Amino acid sequence: MAHNDSPPDSLDSLFAPQGTGALDAALPRRRCIPVLLPVALDATYDYVLPDGIEAEPGAFVTVPFGRQERLGVVWDAVPDDEADSIPERKLKAVTSRLDLPPLPALSRKFVDWIARYTLSPRGMVLRLMMGAASAFEPEPPRFGVRLVDALPASAANRLTPGRRRVIELAGDGLVRSRPALAQEAGVSSAVIDGLIKLGTLVEVEIGPRRMPQPVADYAVPELNDSQAETAHVMRAAVDARNFSVSLLDGITGSGKTEVYFEAVARCIAAGRQVLVMLPEIALTSGFADRFKARFGAPAAEWHSTVGQAERGRVWRAAATGEARVVIGARSALFLPYQDLGLIIVDEEHDGSFKQEDRVTYQGRDMAVVRGSLGNIPVILASATPSIESHVNARNGRYRHLRLLSRFSGNALPDVTPIDLRVDAPEPGKWLSPTLVREVVANLANGEQSLLFLNRRGYAPLTLCRACGHRFQCPQCTAWLVEHRFRGRLNCHHCGFTLPVPDKCPSCQAAGTLVACGPGVERVAEEVKQRFPQARTLILSSDLTPSMKDLREILAMITRGEADIVIGTQIVAKGHNFPGLTMVGIIDGDLGLGGADPRAAERSFQLLHQVTGRAGRAEKPGRGYLQTHLPEHPVMQAIVSGDREAFLDREIGMRQAAMLPPYGRLAALIISGSKKPVVEEFARLVARHAPEARRVEVLGPAEAPIAVVRGRYRTRILLKAPKEFDLQTYLRAWLGGLPKIQGDLRLQIDIDPYNFL
Ligand code: ADP
Ligand code: ZN
Repeated sequence: MAHNDSPPDSLDSLFAPQGTGALDAALPRRRCIPVLLPVALDATYDYVLPDGIEAEPGAFVTVPFGRQERLGVVWDAVPDDEADSIPERKLKAVTSRLDLPPLPALSRKFVDWIARYTLSPRGMVLRLMMGAASAFEPEPPRFGVRLVDALPASAANRLTPGRRRVIELAGDGLVRSRPALAQEAGVSSAVIDGLIKLGTLVEVEIGPRRMPQPVADYAVPELNDSQAETAHVMRAAVDARNFSVSLLDGITGSGKTEVYFEAVARCIAAGRQVLVMLPEIALTSGFADRFKARFGAPAAEWHSTVGQAERGRVWRAAATGEARVVIGARSALFLPYQDLGLIIVDEEHDGSFKQEDRVTYQGRDMAVVRGSLGNIPVILASATPSIESHVNARNGRYRHLRLLSRFSGNALPDVTPIDLRVDAPEPGKWLSPTLVREVVANLANGEQSLLFLNRRGYAPLTLCRACGHRFQCPQCTAWLVEHRFRGRLNCHHCGFTLPVPDKCPSCQAAGTLVACGPGVERVAEEVKQRFPQARTLILSSDLTPSMKDLREILAMITRGEADIVIGTQIVAKGHNFPGLTMVGIIDGDLGLGGADPRAAERSFQLLHQVTGRAGRAEKPGRGYLQTHLPEHPVMQAIVSGDREAFLDREIGMRQAAMLPPYGRLAALIISGSKKPVVEEFARLVARHAPEARRVEVLGPAEAPIAVVRGRYRTRILLKAPKEFDLQTYLRAWLGGLPKIQGDLRLQIDIDPYNFL
């Protein structure tokens, strides 16, 4: 391997020149094979292949494991570990091989890479890749219907008009699925069932449903000059068939989606697969419809609301290559693509790409890793790219593609600060006089307004006026949030809930409970009081739990069926509301503060994205930013629109403090039910930290939310220079620790995004 300064397990190493290793080098034929199981184990286990079963690396096999039969994957043998392996006769035998395409060599390499990088057991990463149980079960047979060969004479007597239509249609002799035939004939499924009973239609088994195939040039848009130029560069990146990362940095409404669809089209035309990763919530915003309009067929979807059977189908179709384009949340990265040619990460700055539980990984970064392993282009798109991506663009690792104007020709909305210290709302109210005036003006013009507050529920704190009792979660260090709409107090960390009591549980006084501070429901209450004639809608994840409801509410807003929308961050992401011309931020300061090094960056992204919802169509938009800190750099950046100045400052600060991407971070989170035990173990962990120059071990310190779900938590933060091999250091550290006892848990978070 070529010399470079990057440790092998770093993202930087992806950009170092490398030799090309053949992936599927032929292995010596042996009847003893290593199998990786999707459980919390790093090691593979050796099994013997009995006569009559062939299984190459990647094959899905069932093996005896403990007392169970388990599904696993034949892994790649390491050449020299045969020497000390157990003699073949002592090994258990593989039970069966599944009739599925093998897990591709690239996917196996990806498992190994992620496991090494995140310090997770390989089995847990493999589990991510097997995220569709139904893919491993035989597909249930599908039946269609066709007209019987010899139509019984009796059939003719009972012909309702519906039945006649069905028979006429089926007269062509083709086999159709029941729903398809019912729909085509415009009858209910009962009519079809009736004809089956009569023997007029017969059921026949049909093969699995085929994925519709997107067509590259189905509806090609006319691009403006800068769009066309950018599309050209991206098409060339697809044609080059090698690893590159492009940062598509375009203001909201500039047509980023339209433009990267051209890269998608190129990849489809080349017969290769495409993955478009989106934050879960953005998948609701009509993206799928937009895809279908452009390519004439839907993409395969992969996210939390896709049903089990469909997951299995998509998994298999990714493996066979039948699924040409997959649009999905971060876990779509782990599908067994047969020939992936392009990855797009839209809204690349979005925090939801980071997975926090089990295998903690940053989906955007892992997309870049996957691109590098597969030697394919990656496109990261955003109107507010992450600091990490900006730095990579500035130092030339990423190709920086910019779209500086909106397709509609409108300017970005002007944002006016509202200093809450001067322009204060009345007590118990949250809209300043200026903001009220602007809502009135918008209502008078028949235009839509959005009031944004990134806080669910009615009020973040409830207390008793008589005795001062505050409602706290019994299992977490957190206040209970009142959700007045549901009449409950909820913990946002563990899901604990209780009905709002009529008496104070502490002093038994009645009618003394008061809500402190606003949530969206409380703002909505104020709006309804002030503007009783206006049509208002609240958009908050707890009020619209299903994607279907959410889609419907978004569609209502798009159609202009609401005058005032009150929403949490759910409204910020990628939605296109043509009638929306005014955005009011209720509390711009909410995301600042705390120990999170990315707090300013995130606030900037969120506020910019929210104000960017205004004026996307014909009419220009404007924004109002209520804040107690008008001189704060984030507020200044939002108001002045001077993003570069903000970036310079933020990047300078990261560099000075050796924070990402100029330094590397890892968090060790130690938790358990007993505080003294956790604290003692955490101190012991810290004492075991190996000596290393320029590595800082900070803590242990109590986590800001010290108790979650009854578990006490303490954190150790590791800070190292960028070139430092953090993983090797951590492996040495963890290797020297005594075995973890009882209910203690030690969780490693490489590149942490959550500091709570
Ligand atoms: P972004 O993702 O950058 O916010 P979009 O791709 O959503 O922007 O585009 C914003 C709006 O402009 C969408 O309604 C889109 O259909 C429209 N648009 C952008 N470019 C074109 C184009 N070349 N032709 C037609 N409509 C376009
Ligand atoms: Zn709780």
